[in-house]
Amino acid sequence: MEKVLEVKDLHVTFTTYGGEVQAVRGVTFDLLKGETLAIVGESGCGKSVTSQSIMRLIPSPPGRIADGAVLFKGKDLTKLKESEMRDIRGADISMIFQDPMTALNPTITIGEQIIEGIMQHENISRQDARKKALEMLNLVGIPNPSERLKHYPHQFSGGMRQRIVIAMALVCEPEVLIADEPTTALDVTIQAQILDLFKDIQKKTGVSIIIITHDLGVVAQVADRIAVMYAGKIVEAGERREIFYNPQHPYTKGLLNSVPRLDLDGADLVPIGGSPPDLFAPPAGCPFAARCGFAMEVCDRVYPYKTHLSRDHHVDCWLQDERAQKMLAAVK
Ligand code: SF4
Ligand code: MG
Repeated sequence: MEKVLEVKDLHVTFTTYGGEVQAVRGVTFDLLKGETLAIVGESGCGKSVTSQSIMRLIPSPPGRIADGAVLFKGKDLTKLKESEMRDIRGADISMIFQDPMTALNPTITIGEQIIEGIMQHENISRQDARKKALEMLNLVGIPNPSERLKHYPHQFSGGMRQRIVIAMALVCEPEVLIADEPTTALDVTIQAQILDLFKDIQKKTGVSIIIITHDLGVVAQVADRIAVMYAGKIVEAGERREIFYNPQHPYTKGLLNSVPRLDLDGADLVPIGGSPPDLFAPPAGCPFAARCGFAMEVCDRVYPYKTHLSRDHHVDCWLQDERAQKMLAAVK
């Protein structure tokens, strides 16, 4: 399948008074046309920084894309001028965030905001922009859209507001939609509706979606592929089924054990003990070693190689690599 976006060996650092934080440490993945890729991990793992770097939205300084490339339509986005990037944002790659209110202006009707957004990117009449706004509100399931255009953001529920933000993100028919924790602020029923909406929109428009979340449960229904991030790296990735039914990284297993399941009662939930390493001085070995029940001597000393288990499924863990013992002998 056609690759829409390629992230290659991305490194992002933040300079602070305490030193340099290595927030993203060599992240590589592709996004295919029409698929949903979920990037999953605890807060601070680098998943939001990765998505903001694709959009070139990390505050710089203190943030900096230190190395790597983000390829989109033959261009490396990390190398573009800010003016070129502005043309891509919204029109080719759109982003939505956890709190819909941050994307909406409370003092302007949603009709004005959507029409304004369209006219910024497209050379069309107000009347045509209004027509398009109505189509978009229809697409995201806002009832009675021509009436609703006249309303202000506070006149909508949280779920409806997120639908409006999604409509605004889609209005210029982007090829990529990045959604950072799009349902975290919503209650469970509304969450499910918004996730259904993503699937529905994807079917109708063919947009490729990246969903960023801390909750593996959220992506069980919508993701085609899942990348699990830990301490600035993708430690395991694969098709949804591979990650849910055949996880190999102890961290992925830990995440799965902490997801509430309908078929088990809550007592079986096991949170992952401990906390992630300090990314001011990331460990030389596996960053999960301090929390891992399977850690071996080699884990503390050397970062594991990437082991490929199938076309899509790969994992960075010494348990999967028969060279672990040899490697340990070499560094001892
Ligand atoms: Fe655990 Fe070692 Fe695998 Fe890291 S490399 S996850 S410490 S077994
Ligand atoms: Mg985040």
